[in-house]
Amino acid sequence: MKSGKKKKLIQFKGSTKFNLNDYEHSESGCKGRFGIEIQQNSVFNFDILGPVRLPLLPLVSCETCKATYELEDYMETTELFVSFLLLQNQKLLTKKQLKFLRVLFDKSQGDIAQLLRVDRSHYSKMESEKTSVFMQPDQQVRVKIYYLHELEEKIGIPKDVFADVVVKINAIDESGMPVVDSDLLAKQMESINENLRQAFR
Ligand SMILES: [Zn+2]
Repeated sequence: MKSGKKKKLIQFKGSTKFNLNDYEHSESGCKGRFGIEIQQNSVFNFDILGPVRLPLLPLVSCETCKATYELEDYMETTELFVSFLLLQNQKLLTKKQLKFLRVLFDKSQGDIAQLLRVDRSHYSKMESEKTSVFMQPDQQVRVKIYYLHELEEKIGIPKDVFADVVVKINAIDESGMPVVDSDLLAKQMESINENLRQAFR
């Protein structure tokens, strides 16, 4: 995905105002204007997790110099939705997904090792692509329940409500790539549009 030189952190929480003038152009002196561009059906490459297909991806970009930024808060929320898809899915989590979830929920390898009553170094192998140590199904269940609880804490609403609002459960394709449901994205777009309306009032 194309991007501007610096990824700038823009506050976009709830009703916080967000300002298109806060973004930096990629060419100094560029007089272009930043606007929201919606990419459809694009694959976004998340750190650690890798590609996730998103039906809609809002980006802030300058038509003139082509500097492009993702919306920080939007991506954070999307990561939480993706985590929910992974946790609800029947499939075993891959090493990459285990690491993604741990980092998302701000846990150390030691924390998860303790939960599973294994050595930290053993747990570290479960996440490492370089070993053939895998997390067993019963351990996976334990970890999934633990993270679901964490998710509930993080989003502040019960996870079944969260599910009702946004998720079509089998939204993981044959290759194991999470596919974010379009209803979910539509809801997020509504909230982004509302923020934009307030910002430009
Ligand atoms: Zn520009």
